[in-house]
Amino acid sequence: MRLILLGPPGCGKGTQAQRLTDKYGIVQLSTGDMLRAAVKAGTPIGQKAHDIMARGELVPDDVVVAIIAERIDQPDARNGFILDGFPRTVPQAEALDRLLDEKGLGLDAAIELKVDEGILHHRIQKRVAEMKARGEAVRADDNPEALEKRVHAYRLQTAPLVSYYRNHGSLRTVDGMAPIADVSAAIDRVLEAPKDKARPAKPAAPARARSATRKRAAPAGRRKAAKRVSKAKARATGKARAARSARKRVAKKTRRKAINKARRRG
Ligand code: ADP
Repeated sequence: MRLILLGPPGCGKGTQAQRLTDKYGIVQLSTGDMLRAAVKAGTPIGQKAHDIMARGELVPDDVVVAIIAERIDQPDARNGFILDGFPRTVPQAEALDRLLDEKGLGLDAAIELKVDEGILHHRIQKRVAEMKARGEAVRADDNPEALEKRVHAYRLQTAPLVSYYRNHGSLRTVDGMAPIADVSAAIDRVLEAPKDKARPAKPAAPARARSATRKRAAPAGRRKAAKRVSKAKARATGKARAARSARKRVAKKTRRKAINKARRRG
């Protein structure tokens, strides 16, 4: 099973990813966790990512793509994986497609956790409070300013992936506002649904295009008959017009004759 979890910061990707790893025996690959580990270890990537992450901006595509390329080659990812926080931009999604193609692998689904933006701040505040209560270090980007930037980055750079995966036929959308257990159940349902059923219906062609298609599709016999009728109509209108002007001419002549006769009589 190879899955992607899509959704803004605080939508519950991490929680659901963890549960899915247990259920399917696959690994959770979180680029956020990997980058935080790199920052902590002070590796060259970590040094590069440190300030960018603290500001709530995205780390360059080539950096995260290289991390993922190396990670999905590890033996523990052979059985499958769930990507949490990757891809986050269209170029990352394209790079992932290429990586999987090269290995002859495919994606089972891209699961979108749909939530109202309004609740994100509240959820992050709750996460901060829980981490503090557990005595854990709070993330450098879990503050109102950085969160604003993370949501903005999601809207601008990551949300287009919803259409990207919809067009690929792998998007499955779940209501992320529901309680955790309900979200989990909804994910299970979309993963168990037959692929064709979950695929969105083909969008209808616009009205104009549809009528053009109909015109093209009319059988040749019907087209010829329609042409004959319109020619006959045109002929008929022509004849009527000629008769009308002939009648007018005659009336004019008669009027002129009557006037002349009256003049002659004095
Ligand atoms: P969240 O989803 O809560 O915002 P993550 O833990 O997934 O947080 O990511 C934290 C930060 O790590 C991001 O704000 C970003 O700076 C960086 N990051 C993680 N994944 C990516 C990615 N795929 N592309 C670019 N930057 C990333």
